Amino acid sequence: MKKLIALMLSIVLCLSFTLSFNAAENEVEIEKIEFNNQDFIKGMDISSLISLENSGVRFYDFDKNEADLLKILSQNGVNCVRVRIWNNPFDAEGNGYGGGNNDINTALKIAKRAAEYNLSVLLDFHYSDFWADPSKQKAPKAWEGLTLSEKAEAVKSFTESSLEKVRETGVNIAMVQIGNETNGGIAGVYTWAEMAEIFKAGSSAVRSFDKNIKIAVHFTNPEKTDYIKSLADFLDEYKVDYDVFALSYYPYWHGSLSNLTEVLNYTAATYDKYVMVAETSYANTLTDSDGHPNTVSSGSNDSGENLLWDFSVQGQAEEVRAVMNAVNNVENSKGLGVFYWEGAWISVGDLSALSGEEYMNKLGDNKLLWEKYGSGWASSYSAEYDPDDAGKWYGGSAVDNQAFFNSGGEALPSLRVFSLVDEKDEEVLIGDVNGDKKVNIPDVTLIQKFLAQLSKIYEKSADVDGDNAVTILDATHIQRYIAKIETELPIGKISS
Ligand code: CA
Repeated sequence: MKKLIALMLSIVLCLSFTLSFNAAENEVEIEKIEFNNQDFIKGMDISSLISLENSGVRFYDFDKNEADLLKILSQNGVNCVRVRIWNNPFDAEGNGYGGGNNDINTALKIAKRAAEYNLSVLLDFHYSDFWADPSKQKAPKAWEGLTLSEKAEAVKSFTESSLEKVRETGVNIAMVQIGNETNGGIAGVYTWAEMAEIFKAGSSAVRSFDKNIKIAVHFTNPEKTDYIKSLADFLDEYKVDYDVFALSYYPYWHGSLSNLTEVLNYTAATYDKYVMVAETSYANTLTDSDGHPNTVSSGSNDSGENLLWDFSVQGQAEEVRAVMNAVNNVENSKGLGVFYWEGAWISVGDLSALSGEEYMNKLGDNKLLWEKYGSGWASSYSAEYDPDDAGKWYGGSAVDNQAFFNSGGEALPSLRVFSLVDEKDEEVLIGDVNGDKKVNIPDVTLIQKFLAQLSKIYEKSADVDGDNAVTILDATHIQRYIAKIETELPIGKISS
């Protein structure tokens, strides 16, 4: 009998442990933010998506159904996706350099799907054939030997032709980034006077293409407070035309959040610019799952005074909220938004539970996929363009532990942060597209304008049949509702 009681007790204990474990796994707790800017961007960079899918990766929503990543993001509060564009990340034989092999054709594939799910895009031009950051700003192969004015002309025409192609997908181009982390260089030029010419060339291409597209410049190292302020001064001095001053903010390296707000405030207040964080991320675990070392792992970037959150799913969500809050704290509603960097760059083959020969075999499989589809950060083919870094250290994903999906592609609860921060959700009257608390003809008109790409809408209010897309059917339902042919809208009433 004693044994039986002990056994039952252990079963009960086991059960309660399992239940509480599941509860913790299934939700995150996040405080809302009162956004000063109603169009606050809750963005995510998903540039590696196509190469991952080609490598066999699939994504699953919270109901464990396989779904388009763009759809999952759209359903969970993300409203804009960032896509990097390299001019020609391939060798003469057509082998990709990796990092998603993100040329314009890859960007078009993502843009087309973003349009389907009413996500806007930020196009992130590196003006290089591969990664551009403070340590490398190499010009594309095709631009080698060009004079400054020829290079500026090449920047202009590459930007224009890319924008024309992207517009044909029907996506809303919310913003264009003129260069990536251009601290001290862009497209192979390295003096401020020369850099200004490149910035101006890219900027004028965007401005003349469409005045509604915001033009962003992008730098990093916000912890160098005075340096960042001097960059804003430099842009003003050289009369570079731009709308958004964007920074990367990785808490492992980039100082405190209050400092981040301070440097953003400086540019916003001094030069009347919008500001944002173009890249951030945080690890939800210290475990690697693809056999390529992660940037954040045990003993590497895993401690420091600005790492205020656990390396957990909850911690990851809290970091995103905190960075959004820091941007929202910028004065005069100039904080425009935050993009999470590569929130879906998961493993092409999970080996986290393997060891010995099995681990090595799986790693071998992964290496083949990275080489063939460019789904790792760099392939061996990148050596011809970047021999000292990518050519030596090429491999898989260094951020698979910073994604919003587990190694099997299932959405993690941290993804919910993008909707949990927002208070708007509770006040939506379905069918009230223009927000005047009535459902009437102007709402139908707005949907029609939206479908003709003449206006933007708050999509949740327009999706009256609840299929996560705004279509002509939604307008029809509202018309029938107004004409009293339908007594209530398909998903009815005020959402909770
Ligand atoms: Ca990894």
